[in-house]
Amino acid sequence: MAKKNISSTDAVHAGEPKTKAFDAVPSPIVASATYTFESSAEIVRHTEGTHERPHREEYGRYGNPTSRAVEERLAALEGTEDAVLFSSGMAAISTAAMALLKHGEHVILFGDCYRMTRELVEGTLARFGVSHTIVPAVDVAAIAHALRPETRLVMSESPTNPYLRCIDLEKLVLACKQKRGLKTLVDATFATPVNCRPAGFGIDLVVHSATKYLGGHHDVLAGVVCGTQPLCSLVRDLRGVLGNVADPHAAFLVGRGLKTLALRVRKQNESALAIARYLEGHSAITRVFYPGLPSHPDHETARAQMTGFGGVVSFIVKGGLDAARGLVDRMELARIAPSFGGVDTLVEQPAIMSYYEMSSEERAAVGIDDGLVRLAVGIEEPEDLVADLTRALA
Ligand SMILES: *Cc1c(COP(=O)(O)O)cnc(C)c1O
Repeated sequence: MAKKNISSTDAVHAGEPKTKAFDAVPSPIVASATYTFESSAEIVRHTEGTHERPHREEYGRYGNPTSRAVEERLAALEGTEDAVLFSSGMAAISTAAMALLKHGEHVILFGDCYRMTRELVEGTLARFGVSHTIVPAVDVAAIAHALRPETRLVMSESPTNPYLRCIDLEKLVLACKQKRGLKTLVDATFATPVNCRPAGFGIDLVVHSATKYLGGHHDVLAGVVCGTQPLCSLVRDLRGVLGNVADPHAAFLVGRGLKTLALRVRKQNESALAIARYLEGHSAITRVFYPGLPSHPDHETARAQMTGFGGVVSFIVKGGLDAARGLVDRMELARIAPSFGGVDTLVEQPAIMSYYEMSSEERAAVGIDDGLVRLAVGIEEPEDLVADLTRALA
């Protein structure tokens, strides 16, 4: 049940109404910051909650028809009751965390996570009096030791960045059940509902940077929080306060991206697996990190809970920083840029991109090898990408 992930049919149709405004096939972009009422009586019905259309719009910061249509589709794809769209992935994660946590409470965060998520927990939330414990990636047993009476939220990514660690979702949910009121949040950006649907395992909130696979074309920043109706309602209310709502044009691009999500992600799964296998057999490569390889520490977990392993392959090039730089510079199809999940193949070196201001020793301490390269596979033909790598590694 939990393992049944979305198909191309779902990606095209799930959560879509049969008919739309102006008989259009896609949901139109409603570029409106505010919405009219026919009379003061209608405003009263709206504010009292007796309006015949309970979801009629009022003001752009609280919602927009284009965004709502995308939210309904995202909820259907993730298998949750509701979804809330944001201006970026970080807006989604920070608003979800802030909606659930208050001064004096405690959050457990799994390591090997997105740098700004770590910054949110260690910097921003700490400044507002929320304490934290950071536990090693995927180490579910560490929860029991980290739990405090005031622990309210456990946050993990799966797969993680850059080592693609996959946490056992079933065990995670079980470990958090010990404590009443404790919520789980999983950032499933690397998985997408094509490969894994954490809500099916009992995860409370599933978040995505829609900037990556969901949008899929490197042309929009957005984020989403998916979950039960009451939790999404809390998150949506805080979005109305913080104002980090998605612009309707951005929402439209996410909605368009979703149509091809399953097609793209399946292609990326296949290509990345082929490339990971190729790299693992190459003498210039020390180590490959890809959950689809039996050599990956979480291969069994990934196989049990995912139907594909994603489009990102991380690997260590022999010869450290300079060897990795040489490879990245010699690649032709893969362009040098942060991010992943889009149609173009991108390549980056965490040591000189996300972790630039650290010394080599500091990077080693947080587990970032100087020779580490992250290849974000696009939808080009895998043979062409392997040929590009072969040339660049020669
Ligand atoms: C990119 C990313 C984010 C942040 O998303 P933005 O859309 O850039 O704000 C959060 N989590 C993960 C896993 C990401 O890859």
